[in-house]
Order: sequence, then structure tokens, then C-alpha cells
Amino acid sequence: MNNEISGEARKDIFETGIHEECGIFGIYSNESNVAEIIFYGLQALQHRGQESAGIAVSDGENILVYKDLGLVSSVFNHQNLAPLLGKIGIGHSRYSTKGRNAWKNSQPLFRTFRGQSFAVAHNGNLINTESLRAGQLKKGVKFETSTDTEIFASLIETSQKETIEEAIEEAISKVKGSYSILILTKDKIIGLRDPNGFRPMALGRKGDSYIIASETCALDIIDAVYIREIDPGEFLTIDKNGLRSQMIFPVDRKSMCIFELIYFARPDSYLFKKNMYEVRHRMGQELANESGSGADLVISVPDSGTPAAIGYSSASKIPYVEGFIKNRYIGRTFIQPSPEIREIGVKLKLNPLKDIIKNKRLVVVDDSIVRGNTSKQIVKMLYNAGAKEIHMRISSPPLVYPCFYGIDMAARTEFIANHRTVEEIRRFLGVESLAYLSIDGLVKAIGEPKDNFCFACFNGDYPVDVSEIIEYDKYSLESEIKKQSVEIS
Ligand code: SF4
Repeated sequence: MNNEISGEARKDIFETGIHEECGIFGIYSNESNVAEIIFYGLQALQHRGQESAGIAVSDGENILVYKDLGLVSSVFNHQNLAPLLGKIGIGHSRYSTKGRNAWKNSQPLFRTFRGQSFAVAHNGNLINTESLRAGQLKKGVKFETSTDTEIFASLIETSQKETIEEAIEEAISKVKGSYSILILTKDKIIGLRDPNGFRPMALGRKGDSYIIASETCALDIIDAVYIREIDPGEFLTIDKNGLRSQMIFPVDRKSMCIFELIYFARPDSYLFKKNMYEVRHRMGQELANESGSGADLVISVPDSGTPAAIGYSSASKIPYVEGFIKNRYIGRTFIQPSPEIREIGVKLKLNPLKDIIKNKRLVVVDDSIVRGNTSKQIVKMLYNAGAKEIHMRISSPPLVYPCFYGIDMAARTEFIANHRTVEEIRRFLGVESLAYLSIDGLVKAIGEPKDNFCFACFNGDYPVDVSEIIEYDKYSLESEIKKQSVEIS
């Protein structure tokens, strides 16, 4: 179980450059053991994090946690699910945004408050971790992980409040950043969403059971009915008395991550009561309206560019075809990446359909460009396969600024749009034309007020102050942990 693999050793040669942060799933049932249900829920949320998976259940007295590195299906089996007996529980699938990929950093985390166990599963990223950790260290707190989640858990653990609800409220008042969090105690589940509502969180019901999940696709897989989104700033408690909702902190500015709608959330999930496939389809239509191009065919960079490519096709009346076959069986590899290996990696993943695209003028739709290297390789593959012209269309604005709220993207200087104009990027890619969807086009496609969203990675307008952070560094707490270990030993 404790087979740590360093994050550095697990580099993926198929890096897209943008990674989601985590998926969370919790269920309160009056009927049956829930571990297997959580297992299925986590599988539906696998796209949100593939580094580790864990489940914590309570039998009414004790909390049991099982977690390990790997995909949900490789971590859990009948043998290790069977002892997880309990009618309430939470689960977590992780992609690391604070702290390396290691067993000790996997979740749910297990802690105690006034002698009572609790477990925490977190989706998001806290931004005032260094100062909070320094304060806790001064109080004599010892940290076992390099995650922001442990800092949050330690604030609860060391609180002098009478009840865990009060301790959680106190902890929330101290943290800044993004968090959709599930907390399991021996007899209840508490769901929290930060006042900005950066990360999604949905409430569902199946019979007498209540479910809280990162996305509605996790409700579908267990045939639960979607009730509503957990509101930004909501503190939701589920116990034997049913549901209790409180709004603890004022919501100054809602700012859901726009990238959830562009790319992260599964196309079959719903946000703002809207299906993500349809929203992305409209993004493609807006893209065609803003920057149409004469071409013979529209193709997508699968899979994430496909709904927008089909939308582009419907608005432009240029036929959509599959231009690539995607190999879905590769998974992650542990080869140290080099430019040559990365090139092979893209080829292994995507193979152009030569007879379809030969001598054709193509509109190629993708959802984003981060560093530009993968896009350049894709363009090269299409020209090698005989494409006559390539018109690249991106269903989001240029990525310029780093994310501090839980998306692992790149350092500021690595974004190609940070230091090149659109025309310079076009020349770098070697395409006939290049256009991005505008922020206004994006908002129009979504059909919700612009004020509901965070666009910081496009325009630098950060909804929660990040001035104390110089550059996003997911390993910033590693050195603190090492220092602490030396002091202890
Ligand atoms: S900065 Fe970008 S990726 Fe990060 S929360 Fe805001 S919109 Fe999402």
C-alpha cells in the first residue's frame, strides 16, 4: 500500500500541459454499505485525477481509510473493498496541485478532533499555505504531507472550539483559495464550497441516500437524481436528521473556473443546469461566427476538441469528419521525456486518417494551446499526411497567466501566448491561419453572466488576491517537510 513513486519519475510523455486537480464523491446512506458505490463514483470522476485514489467509510463508530497510488480501478478490488464497511463515506481521486505524487499525499486524509476521527477529501488549491503552515509549525504541529489539504485539516485538529462544525467554520475563515471539500465524521458528511465557487460540486439523491460529487456524471453512474449544485459559500451537513444548509461567509464575487466548462468537466456533466457537450458545441459555433475560414473539412484534436469542432461545422456548413484515430489504450508511461520521445508520444496517441485529409483544406479545432509544442507536432503530422492547408481554431482565448486555484498548467513564461502574438504563434505552428475564441464569444456560448466566472488565466484578473505568490509552485511545501524532518530527527 505504501509504495511511493516520486512525481518526477512519473512524468507523462503525452503531457497536454493542463491538468485537473481532483475528484470527490461522498454518500450518506441509510440502507447499505457504500464503499462499492463510492468506487463507481470515483471511476466516473477519474478524468479529474489519475495519480491516486482513496475511500474512507464510517461504520458509525470508526473511520477506515484505504488509499494508494494509481487509477481507481487499479487501487481497488473486491479484497480491499470488502472490509470497508459503513453506510457513509467519501472518496477522492487525485491529481497533485500541491505536493508531489506520493502515497503520503493521497487522500482522504485521516485526522482527529477532540479524540474523534475525521477524514477530508479536497478538490482545489489553497493559496495562503506558507503563512498558515508557518503559524501551525509555531504551535508545534507536525506535518506528514506536503499538501495544502493537511494544513486545512490541522486547523480543524488544533481548534479549541467545542464542535467539529465550529472548528471547520474557524478553519474556513483562515484559508484563501479554491476548495470543494468533503469531511467525513463517524456519523455525518459535511460538504463545503468556497465563496467563489471555483470548483464544481453537485448534490444528488438516490432513495434515502444523499450524494455529493464533483460532477453530475458521477450521479448518473449510480442512477442518482441530480438535485442542485452546492452553492458557493455553502456549508452542507448530512446526518440522520437529513440535510442542513448554511451560508457561512458572504459571497463577494462568484468566479467558477471557466476551464471547467471549456475542458475539465466531462461532456456529459451539467453545470449551471447546462450540458457541457452542448456548451462546447456552442463555443465551436461562436468560433465559426467570429473567425470562419474557407475549407473542405473540419476535424478535431480528439477528444476534447470534438464538441467544438462539430459546433464549428454546424455554423460554418463545412463537413465535420474524423481526421485522427486516437489510441485509447496507451495510458501513462514512466519514460523520462525528451523532445524525441514526446514526438513519438503524440504519434502513439493520434494517427491521422491519410485518405480522408489528403489534398484537403482543413479547419482543425482544439480547446487550448499551452506551450504550443504538441499543436506544432499535430500540424506536422497533418501536413505529412497530405493536408493542403491548415486553419487552426481554438475554442478558448489565449492562455497567458498561470492558475493558482487548482489547475496545474505551466509557469507563466512557458505559455506560448505570454511572449508571442497570435501571428507569431501562427508562424511557430506553421499553419495558414490561427484564431482563438474571444472572452465575449465564450460568455455568449455559455449563456450565463460574465460575472459568474474566473477568466484569470486569460486576462490576469484574479478573483482572490494572489499577490503573495510569485509563481505557481506545486512543490513549495516539499522543502518545508524536509526541513521539518531534519529538525525532528
Ligand atoms: S485561472 Fe483559469 S484555470 Fe484557474 S480557476 Fe481561473 S479560469 Fe480556471
